[in-house]
Amino acid sequence: MDSLSNVSGVGSKSILLLNKLNIYNVYDLVTYFPKKYLFIKRSDMSNAINGDKVIVDGVVEGQPTIINISTKLKKVIFRISNNSGIYNITAFNQVYLQKQLKFGMDVIIMGKYDKYRNTIVMSDIRYGRLGNSIRIESIYNSINGLSKNIITKYINSALLMDYSCYDYIPDYLCFKYKFMNKRDAINIIHNPSNILSLKKARQRIKYEELFLYLLKINYLKYINNNDDKAIVRKFKDIDVDKFINSLEFKLTEDQISVVNVIKDELRNSKRMNRLIQGDVGSGKTIVAMISGYMNYLGGYQTALMVPTEILANQHYEDAVKLFNDYGVKCCLLTSSVSKKEKENLYKDIKEGHIDFIIGTQSLIQDCVVYSNLGLIITDEQHRFGVKQRETLKNKGIFPDVISMSATPIPRTYALTLYGDMDVSSIKTKPIGRKDVITYYKNNKDIMDVLRLMKKEIDKGHQIYVIAPSIDGSENDIDNVNSLKKKMEIAFGKICKISSVHGKMNNDEKNKVMEDFENGKSNILISTTVIEVGVNVVNASMIVIFNANVFGLSTLHQLRGRVGRGSIQSYCILISHEYQDRLKMLEKCNDGFYISEYDFINRGEGDLFGIKQSGDAVFKIANIKKDYKMLLKVREDIDEFMIKLFNDERYKYIIDYLNDCNNLS
Ligand code: ADP
Ligand code: MG
Repeated sequence: MDSLSNVSGVGSKSILLLNKLNIYNVYDLVTYFPKKYLFIKRSDMSNAINGDKVIVDGVVEGQPTIINISTKLKKVIFRISNNSGIYNITAFNQVYLQKQLKFGMDVIIMGKYDKYRNTIVMSDIRYGRLGNSIRIESIYNSINGLSKNIITKYINSALLMDYSCYDYIPDYLCFKYKFMNKRDAINIIHNPSNILSLKKARQRIKYEELFLYLLKINYLKYINNNDDKAIVRKFKDIDVDKFINSLEFKLTEDQISVVNVIKDELRNSKRMNRLIQGDVGSGKTIVAMISGYMNYLGGYQTALMVPTEILANQHYEDAVKLFNDYGVKCCLLTSSVSKKEKENLYKDIKEGHIDFIIGTQSLIQDCVVYSNLGLIITDEQHRFGVKQRETLKNKGIFPDVISMSATPIPRTYALTLYGDMDVSSIKTKPIGRKDVITYYKNNKDIMDVLRLMKKEIDKGHQIYVIAPSIDGSENDIDNVNSLKKKMEIAFGKICKISSVHGKMNNDEKNKVMEDFENGKSNILISTTVIEVGVNVVNASMIVIFNANVFGLSTLHQLRGRVGRGSIQSYCILISHEYQDRLKMLEKCNDGFYISEYDFINRGEGDLFGIKQSGDAVFKIANIKKDYKMLLKVREDIDEFMIKLFNDERYKYIIDYLNDCNNLS
């Protein structure tokens, strides 16, 4: 019915090619929208100057002739005439034109105007004549085997068909915004007759995309909130307080309030799905540990999932120390754990002998069977996606989820992007914590940098040195290996220098990290593997080479590796250019501000390092550019959610939401 094979001209070979463009049915094809438009408008030749790019239409005068300039280069020359005069046209290497162009034919020529020779050097040609208004041509992304022209042809055939096309914007909203009919909008986007209607048509489709995007998120949240499988825990405040009071520091105000919110959520009958965002060093880990402890008191297992083994090790050690006197049994589950040991751990986890499981992504693999998993905490970088949640659900597990991130996102933005989550922020820093002092240094001033480093080494402090790559495959820029050599020359006599990077095996990596943590090495050179979570309180300086190639949030994260205790710490950003964003980092230590700055200044599609993969993919809308519309849609959705469940007419939308296996 809506199969691609019914589109005139489309055969089995083309179907495979279309599939590569994610086109699987007629609807996909008609919503394969132009990548851009070419606006063709007749030039005013009386004002054209030499070298202008011009567009002229006219009638072909006489048959074109071919001139051989060399064996390889030929040119076709002909003349066209119109009301404003006669023009010579030169086209290089397009000999086919000689046959194609006939005397008296209407053509539109685009090219560069050579006024002195009254010649246009043609870059493109169309057939027909131009009216007085703009002609808009749709340009599609093409791939090998499917040219722009063929795609255009297929789409235009499909547009004539009677394909099914659901309209997901409720009628009252269509009325409110005076939206055109969806099918008309699709037609116009492919074949616009003027800019105004094109704009309106695009608005219509954009709105629907954003509407469905937010509706899915809200629907999901609704379902989670009304989940009768939510775990209700019972535990005593006094036990939690005892644990908190035994910590070697006092919790900050924000840590306390987040702990309290989580405490309530662990007790109530609502599924928790909470994002805790807080700057590097704000102390999210301890909040995770306390949450895990409350979950333990309530009688359930906790899984703490982190992105790297280094971090897993570190958290494991912390957890063992913290929980030693409280009966919480911890284990570490990473790929370095031997097979035999793993088997034992799996068994213990399954039988409920272990309460707190720390590890990498492997924690939610099929082979791990939990006895009663009640809480999943993910730390840094990855947010626990809906799909992973679904996987667990299918296993009959309905845990609460806490995600922790050191890449804060602007508030309004968080509400939409993470609309299915509740967000808490930790903004207050632990007492006594000093801001990291940040300097920019030009590559030429390396001696200055070495002097600054020496000062820290003399004080007995440790230093991180960061480079973007391991070896010098690209250009001649500094890398882990070359810096290792340089640092050896500079400091080899007075201290120990080590390096760590992603290509080392886990044992090697762990050994180097352990040595650094225990103060056995003074300078650690690394790629960004060090970026997440690592906590060495005695490290007082981080030197980042080629700082210009890193994103802002990465730089800020890296900087957060130091200044984790009470000693004054420094971050040195080395780059051959003094970019504005580096200037900003010198002045600012506030992750929330930095992410806001990033939001405003960074190119589209790249959301402060948060990958959108798995989330809705838009055909026209763009979360960043269409942010204003998104806010409007959000208001509309709040209103619509009530109607959705109370009005029979919207049942098809609920069906769609339930069907949507791509809930994101
Ligand atoms: P992040 O938020 O980056 O994960 P961590 O949780 O690793 O930060 O905390 C950084 C350091 O601060 C750790 O050494 C931790 O023990 C310490 N810390 C956390 N909370 C406090 C506090 N309230 N007072 C003093 N130190 C704290
Ligand atoms: Mg952390």
